Amino acid sequence: MSNQTKASRRADPERLRLKIAELIENFEAGLRSDELRKKVLALVPVFRGLRNLGKMLIPTEYASAARDRILYYFRKYPQTVIEGDELLVVSGIQEYARRVRELRVQFGWAIASGVTIKEMSEAEHAELPDDFTRMKTSQYVLLNEDQDREAALRWNTANTIRKERGSVRDKILRFFRANVGRKVTGEELRYVAGNKTEWARRVRELRTEFGWPVATKSTGRPDLGIGVYVLQADRQSPEHDRHIPDDVRREVLRRDGYRCSDCHWSHDEWNPSDPRHLELHHVKPHAKGGENVKENLKTLCTVCHDKLHKKEK
Ligand SMILES: [Zn+2]
Ligand SMILES: [Zn+2]
Repeated sequence: MSNQTKASRRADPERLRLKIAELIENFEAGLRSDELRKKVLALVPVFRGLRNLGKMLIPTEYASAARDRILYYFRKYPQTVIEGDELLVVSGIQEYARRVRELRVQFGWAIASGVTIKEMSEAEHAELPDDFTRMKTSQYVLLNEDQDREAALRWNTANTIRKERGSVRDKILRFFRANVGRKVTGEELRYVAGNKTEWARRVRELRTEFGWPVATKSTGRPDLGIGVYVLQADRQSPEHDRHIPDDVRREVLRRDGYRCSDCHWSHDEWNPSDPRHLELHHVKPHAKGGENVKENLKTLCTVCHDKLHKKEK
């Protein structure tokens, strides 16, 4: 038999299907046997056959390695909730979760797991599509198809910071400050936090209590993708403008059309030589009893905000 015939025989799913059907047919006798080991051994080739059949579903000209087949599958069904078992089928390997992680962290594909989506939506009250909020821990979703080529670099930073001393919040802040103005993902923040569930709450506190301008899709930057965070500048908002709950923040920004109430600057006009962002200002200062309600808050760009506070001094 020539090599080519061998190869085409290997890649013939119909032939393999018949072979598995035959094995299952013969298993009838195995099933009736009293001996457990005999039954198990008779099922082994069925499992192997199924695994190979799953691998054949994606032609080798599109993807030959397990990791490539997983990526091919995600990209064919972006923004679709995918079961881990589907990845088991197309990859043909037990440790598909590890390959998913590599795709995410080393290759920068925005694949989120049900675990991360859940923690994120709980902490941010993020407005996610219904099928995302119902995701189970065994599921995954490719959030968008933009491969982030800086991901590998950030991964190195994340790895270093993760091993350093300090609280989860310190580490997350360190990671943000190493990536000012750059998009980072919830998956990365979770990793920096040593996979501790509290990561999403700590991120929210950095914004609401410590005044770091960490923006997400639902807290000021509707242009960002789901699961993306940006520390917009390496500065904290003035002490008296902190402690604003996320839902109030969202309402005020929405009401003001994501523009500065004074100069009408919006993030669409952002450029590196004028790196401002939007902050919320208390009309009556929080320290003087001004409340965290939308009537007492307005959206200002950092330039107008600084100007206003200088005047007040
Ligand atoms: Zn302004
Ligand atoms: Zn202010």
